[in-house]
Amino acid sequence: MADSELLNKVVSLCKRRGFIFQSSEIYGGLKSAYDYGPLGVELKRNIAAEWWKAMVHEREDIVGMDASIFMHPNVWKSSGHLACFSDPLVDCLNCKERFRADKAPKAAAGTQVEFREGGRKDGRTLKAEVAQRGYVCPNCGGPRLSDERQFNMMFRTSIGPVDALESFIDEVEGKALGRQELREKIEAALAPSAIYLRPETAQGMFVQFLNVQQSTSMKVPFGIAQQGKAFRNEIVTEKFIFRTCEFEQMEMEYFVEPGSESEWHDYWVKTRLAWWKHFANNKEGFRARFYEKSELAHYASACADIEFQYPWGWDELEGIASRTNYDLTRHGEESGAKLSYFDQQKPDPATGKMGWRYIPYVIEPASGLTRAVLMYLCDAYAEEQGTDAEGEGKTRVILKLNPRLAPIKVAVLPLMKKEGLPEVARGIVQQFFKSGINASYDEQQSIGKRYARHDEVGTPYCLTVDHQTLQDQTVTIRDRDTTKQERISVEAALGSVTRRIAEA
Ligand code: ATP
Repeated sequence: MADSELLNKVVSLCKRRGFIFQSSEIYGGLKSAYDYGPLGVELKRNIAAEWWKAMVHEREDIVGMDASIFMHPNVWKSSGHLACFSDPLVDCLNCKERFRADKAPKAAAGTQVEFREGGRKDGRTLKAEVAQRGYVCPNCGGPRLSDERQFNMMFRTSIGPVDALESFIDEVEGKALGRQELREKIEAALAPSAIYLRPETAQGMFVQFLNVQQSTSMKVPFGIAQQGKAFRNEIVTEKFIFRTCEFEQMEMEYFVEPGSESEWHDYWVKTRLAWWKHFANNKEGFRARFYEKSELAHYASACADIEFQYPWGWDELEGIASRTNYDLTRHGEESGAKLSYFDQQKPDPATGKMGWRYIPYVIEPASGLTRAVLMYLCDAYAEEQGTDAEGEGKTRVILKLNPRLAPIKVAVLPLMKKEGLPEVARGIVQQFFKSGINASYDEQQSIGKRYARHDEVGTPYCLTVDHQTLQDQTVTIRDRDTTKQERISVEAALGSVTRRIAEA
């Protein structure tokens, strides 16, 4: 299957089977905003739950928290987001495409490139030289571009029962103001009630560092983990749910002793890479890309992206940055809070005296939950050629999701809708419901169609209740990937499925 075809097939399956829908579709849709349907929400929650289990529940050294999306505006001033959380925005003067300079196709400065006038297929062929900046328009390939300007990606809104526009109108009514003056007045009117939608979950953990550490008595090294929504006014939203303005993150701040950050950075890159691979079919589809010194943010001492081979090529899934003590230092300086840690057991390296107070260094594994949904869907999508009951060629679509991630864990299917089979099947499905395992009862259409339907949504096991069940209390259990069936007792069904999921 061609790679571009794979993404189209995943998008179409998502809509057809209720994983992901276009937001507000009946009103024509909102560009690049998506809703998670009955199966999508299960998949997303399962990924989040596995992450939480691996990062919080199975570790002594990490605790969780859930910060509010709205934070004091000074948080974003101190963190540098107000001044610097921006992308370089460029307009193509030929086709009017608006794009990010750092993501544009590279082209050597001084070379001549050909492109179509207006970016239209039927436009005249034009030629021009690539400017010193060394890139071209991602849409038409042309090098005639506007200057780069920084575009802040934070969403700003206002809080409280204040009408910022009212005070602005009072201030400017009847005055003839220039553009710059007008902008300043608008900014001044908005400032008192301005509040931002968080562009990352991370800052919630930095500003609560002291509360969490003191209330839990965690000892360095320790981490604080969080999952939640983040919002970025992206210049270009792209590739289905890969880059959207509203998305979900899974982030963890790991606080370590100064001097140990490099070791911990290596540890987290390896640990996170292994975690992603565990649930995937193609283990070769992941790699860690370490940043060159020139690519690092000014406060970072190292960074690696965990990349996945998406249908369009290698791209980011998670960033793991060694952020030095920048964040705690900045918030400490600006708020006046003492965001430091005191280790009674260690001598201060500066004085040699027992007891060392320092600002911890931070390793931050930061990943996208919604991006992970797309990644695992691409990894799981498979087609197999076979024949149907009439011997006609047929394509079997299978979503080979790890059973722990699969939205529905088991489907219980009565062979027929009569002769007492539905009652037995409903009895079995109830056992799964009571054990907290997401099971589905399905009696619509032929058994072959039901198997196909469940293969397509990734249900790893189907239990079929047939006439033999009534005689010997056994059912067949069918494996999604091999299609092999075996008979097990009804009594053992719950235990068998639970064990298989736990071992996946
Ligand atoms: P990118 O280079 O793709 O813009 P980033 O380096 O800005 O991402 P981080 O700030 O490190 O991303 O955020 C951590 C993770 O959050 C990313 O690895 C990605 O999985 C996810 N993420 C970031 N921006 C978006 C977005 N607009 N839509 C969906 N997920 C996102």
